Amino acid sequence: MLRVKQVECPFFYGNLGGTAVIFRPLCRLRDGFFACIKDYLYNPKVLLRKKRQEQLLLFTQERGIIAMEMKDRLQELANRAKRLIEEAESPEKLNDARVAFLGKKGELTAMLKSLRDVAPEDRPAVGQLVNETRERIEAMMEDSRKNFEKKLLEQKLKTEVIDVTLPAKKSRIGHRHPNSIALEEVERIFIGMGYEVVEGPEVEYADYNFTKLNIPEDHPARDEQDTFFINDKILLRSQTSPVQARTMEKGILPIRMIAPGRVFRSDEVDATHSPSFHQIEGLVIDKHITFADLKGTLEEFARELFGPETKTKFRPHHFPFTEPSAEVDVSCFKCGGKGCRFCKGSGWIEILGCGTVHPNVLRMCGIDPEEYTGFAFGVGLERIALLKYEIDDMRLLYENDARFLKQF
Ligand SMILES: [Zn+2]
Repeated sequence: MLRVKQVECPFFYGNLGGTAVIFRPLCRLRDGFFACIKDYLYNPKVLLRKKRQEQLLLFTQERGIIAMEMKDRLQELANRAKRLIEEAESPEKLNDARVAFLGKKGELTAMLKSLRDVAPEDRPAVGQLVNETRERIEAMMEDSRKNFEKKLLEQKLKTEVIDVTLPAKKSRIGHRHPNSIALEEVERIFIGMGYEVVEGPEVEYADYNFTKLNIPEDHPARDEQDTFFINDKILLRSQTSPVQARTMEKGILPIRMIAPGRVFRSDEVDATHSPSFHQIEGLVIDKHITFADLKGTLEEFARELFGPETKTKFRPHHFPFTEPSAEVDVSCFKCGGKGCRFCKGSGWIEILGCGTVHPNVLRMCGIDPEEYTGFAFGVGLERIALLKYEIDDMRLLYENDARFLKQF
């Protein structure tokens, strides 16, 4: 015969009528006993076959009270977890244990879910117990994890010995851009002639970009098609010439300066155009400066830049801020002026624009044109880089292709 014991459960007072019971027909209790509800025993044989008879504990209370002694179950679970954690040989095994106990479908999670079967008044106490158990297991896992990490580090320190005598890996540091090389060359030449290098803002007042340079309101250069206006008073400078006006306004004379910098025009990108490129502006203001000084200066500049045999040619031109104005060609440094593909057969290559400063410009910048005169010139930096390094497409300068840039 089976040993039957009647117990009152401290945890559960729910309605267990019929077979709609939340607990399994057979539940483990401490000391290896199992519990079952009376209602299930309408056919005890079926059930009892599954468990040893003497281990069956039967509850007969009318309202069907059955519950596990959660405390014992939790203790048992914690013990098992501890064993598993201690036995884990690797972080992977440890993780398996974590999943088995703390995972979504883990034992502790299942137990937490079965809280709803516990009488409401007992839930806080049992819930707290579950949480404490979880914290205990988590703490054990964390200790074990740290242990693994420590071991791993020790092992790494033992195996990964660095040979400091090995030569280091070379890092690519890059080098100067053709534009920078050309600019430094131009700066070197002019600094050698006693010029200073001046900078000005890239975002400029229309007043400096146009008006003070004698470019009237209706001049086509002011067209919004050509210039990036920010509002009707401010724009991205379309030339480095505004630096002339800014320097003259300071009133410190004489002036010998170059102003290299980025300028902006509303151009489509092609082999010879870009919406953003670089100019180098030059300005000299002093007493008794003439066009002869301008010629001498630029001839010397061309010889320094392209070689001592270089000849220059001044062709009359028009710029609003200089009078007279000229465009300057240099003799082709490839063919020496005989004519080749590089100079398109003419023997000459155009490099810059220049002229003596217009009296209106001097006046507008606060300088007396009766006392002072001067000359100015502007050269495209890209033009020099393209010529000097025989690059046939300006776009190459902006594409940052390391294979291209490496050549200079
Ligand atoms: Zn040529």
